[in-house]
Amino acid sequence: MKKYDYSQSARWLDRAKKVLASGVSSEFRKYNHPHALFYTHGKGSKLYDVDGNEYLDFTLSQGPLILGHSHPEILEAVQTYSLKGQLFAGQHAQEIELAEKLQQLIPSAERIRFCLDGSEAVQTALRVARSKTGKQKFLRFEGHYHGWLDNVCYGISTPASGETGPRNAPVIHPWSQGLSHGSAEEFFLLPWNNLELVQELVKQHHQDLAAIITEPVMCNNGCIPPKEGFLQGLRKICDQYGIALILDEVITGFRLGLSGAQGLYSILPDMAVFAKALGSGYPISAVVGKKEWMEEIASARVIHAGTMNAANPTVAAALATVSILERENPYPTMFALGDKLRQGLRQLAKDTGQPLLVSGIGPIAHTGFSDKNAVFDFRDVLSFDKGKLKHFISGMHDRGLRVIGRGLWYISAVHTEAEIDRALEIAKDALTEMKS
Ligand code: PLP
Repeated sequence: MKKYDYSQSARWLDRAKKVLASGVSSEFRKYNHPHALFYTHGKGSKLYDVDGNEYLDFTLSQGPLILGHSHPEILEAVQTYSLKGQLFAGQHAQEIELAEKLQQLIPSAERIRFCLDGSEAVQTALRVARSKTGKQKFLRFEGHYHGWLDNVCYGISTPASGETGPRNAPVIHPWSQGLSHGSAEEFFLLPWNNLELVQELVKQHHQDLAAIITEPVMCNNGCIPPKEGFLQGLRKICDQYGIALILDEVITGFRLGLSGAQGLYSILPDMAVFAKALGSGYPISAVVGKKEWMEEIASARVIHAGTMNAANPTVAAALATVSILERENPYPTMFALGDKLRQGLRQLAKDTGQPLLVSGIGPIAHTGFSDKNAVFDFRDVLSFDKGKLKHFISGMHDRGLRVIGRGLWYISAVHTEAEIDRALEIAKDALTEMKS
């Protein structure tokens, strides 16, 4: 099989490095194979780079493209509304329509504010929690990603020292230099999926705790579902101690269903955050919550602002996305394709003798190399063989299959069964090559 050539991208990268810091506009884009690549266009489940390489794309731009690349209805909606103007510094009808739809679909969305991205929406929810409770700190979990801003930029990278510390008092590793000193004092950190640890910590520190924030499924590391009763347990603890439960649905929102993970797991958070799939690639996010919590914003005790919030084209994209998802209900098919992909990959692991551990839920899959049979938290994920994963991902990439570098696969509403078969063929070749 012909391996892909990346020489044009390499040339563009040399040029880009002279103007963009390290040649990219987001840190994650550096970690492509074999280096940051440059793309020309995308259509449906396919993406094309400047070398003319075609990829069957399971990256979906790190998640947003739930309807694939260049969905004609999304592009048309954006174009139509853009022609009426970009931004009014005022309200417009589609914004209300979109909010009404979210209110209908998402159990906790009694009130809504739109922002630009997930990072901002997370910070809005945390500010609301601090304001309403009069408390300062929040509890978050190792391996969960809540954006790149200071107070959540810890506990997500692999510690260089390998040191994680005791489970009830993890070592807190910053992901970046330059974080404000105070930011490490804003939160408590624990391993995920362990209710006893949460109970212990909350019992001791509830006077300081404004919020518990969690991804409902730990999508950013291992794509690990919550243990039975874990989310419900968090709900109970939050109720008992007057703490906000915030679900970070930036990945799960509109991916696991129209009502997000909160619908799937029947868990009612106080607030939740949506981004990525909501806008099909356009910059829009939403912080939603129960009326009593969002009252902090409604009353202007909490300030939430943003010049670019709810701009016409982004609202149009979100409205079109949600309408298409409602009309076509692609979820049963996406879930079936996810099952097929995971089962196929597990079979390949057996056939090739590779220690490939496959996890995930619905249209999200994760592949890691591990001798474990199952994983439950970030510490389990840290033991994965990163060298093997890199080899596997590169081998697939060189054959036209694009998967997120940390082993994450997103299935869109436009992927087909034949494409899952094709992906499995490519994965088989890549695994077989690794064996020899
Ligand atoms: N929360 C989660 C669960 C995410 O996965 C991400 C991004 O990947 C964010 C928050 C931050 O969102 P954004 O990149 O839109 O700022």
